[in-house]
Amino acid sequence: MAETSSIDLKLTNVCLPGQADRWQVAIDQGKIVEIAASILTPAITTLDAQGKLLLPGLVDAHIHLDKAFLLDRVQWHTGTFSEALQQTAAAKRSFTLEDIQARARRVIEQAIGFGTTAMRSHVEVDPMIQLTGLKALLPLRDEYAWGLTLQLAVFAQEGITNLPGTEALLRQAMALGGDVIGSAPYVDPEPEQNIRIVFDLAQDFDCDVDFHLDFLDDDAPLLLPVVIAETQKRGWQGRVCLGHMTKLAGLPPAELSAIAHATATAGISILALPSTDLYMMSRRDTHNTRRGVAPVHTLATYGVNTGVATNNVQNLFTPFGDGDLLKLCTLLAQVLHLNTAMSHEQCLAMATTQAAQAIGIPNHGLAPGNTADLVLINATSVTEAIGAAPVDRTVIKQGRIVAQSQRQQTLFPTR
Ligand SMILES: [Zn+2]
Repeated sequence: MAETSSIDLKLTNVCLPGQADRWQVAIDQGKIVEIAASILTPAITTLDAQGKLLLPGLVDAHIHLDKAFLLDRVQWHTGTFSEALQQTAAAKRSFTLEDIQARARRVIEQAIGFGTTAMRSHVEVDPMIQLTGLKALLPLRDEYAWGLTLQLAVFAQEGITNLPGTEALLRQAMALGGDVIGSAPYVDPEPEQNIRIVFDLAQDFDCDVDFHLDFLDDDAPLLLPVVIAETQKRGWQGRVCLGHMTKLAGLPPAELSAIAHATATAGISILALPSTDLYMMSRRDTHNTRRGVAPVHTLATYGVNTGVATNNVQNLFTPFGDGDLLKLCTLLAQVLHLNTAMSHEQCLAMATTQAAQAIGIPNHGLAPGNTADLVLINATSVTEAIGAAPVDRTVIKQGRIVAQSQRQQTLFPTR
């Protein structure tokens, strides 16, 4: 009789999203090989999940590692977007490589503990910071590969046509190892030219595109039609991701329907960034304040690939948060009035499988053949996981347990 070879890791007593009963999951050579009620193949390591919920690894499709944790060095009075932009640009002048790395490490290590197994960080490149941010983050991409897959999106936050030398710097940054190219066209006096320059760079370096787009609640026209047209003209379907898109929240249903169809046809992904957008939008409203979060649940019904992401951690754009995507799912579900078990599962997909699709991470999800990037949550359903974002988590990256967190509490009752 042939000897049965062992698999690397077996999870037992696992709950799965939307499924009854307990399951077993076999993992070998970094991949999920089987999900079944009972797996007889012996494993080198067996982990009894004790009924915990297994989810695909969380994917943070949009974060800024280089400007996280800045509240100790900025002045804030109005809390407005213009103040955040101006104060952060001023703070950026004193960023050093070591300083950026220290703040980025703090975010990355927290994120790994929360169960984030992939992340796209924007990294600012402009005549002020030049390539310092990228040079700080490039080594961390390799250093933390054991815990998360880090993509670096070279990002022109201050505009391109208005700042001579920026385009050349973006080009240098891509040559140095940037994975993705992006910008914030709304700060550029020539936003459409800004968009075309970014697409030119994407074609030259054969990389994905990521814009901060249609942010704020001013009267500037939507730039989404420009991005849709350029995406199709250049054959970049499936390679474009857009963050914020807060202006879509203000569109009447018929207009939203038309642009959602066009966005889906162009294969463009849209990410809501609710912790920033709720905080930054609608500052001029005197009462009954609008929310200003992209209606990603509605866009999804038109076939748009949608996601939810962190954006910022404790800076003037978003003074709150810790980079836990599960907590952002809680927030998004509240803001978008997601009120069924199925809508909660869709919300979670926006932070896992759909987020992975948005940033081009292949083979992500709970199915045999996919990468074993997983997180065990102390909950029995997705609704419960989103409801409380439990602290207790076990994180698996490419089949290896990379982090475990446990809540500690001691009660001292009177006798
Ligand atoms: Zn951003």
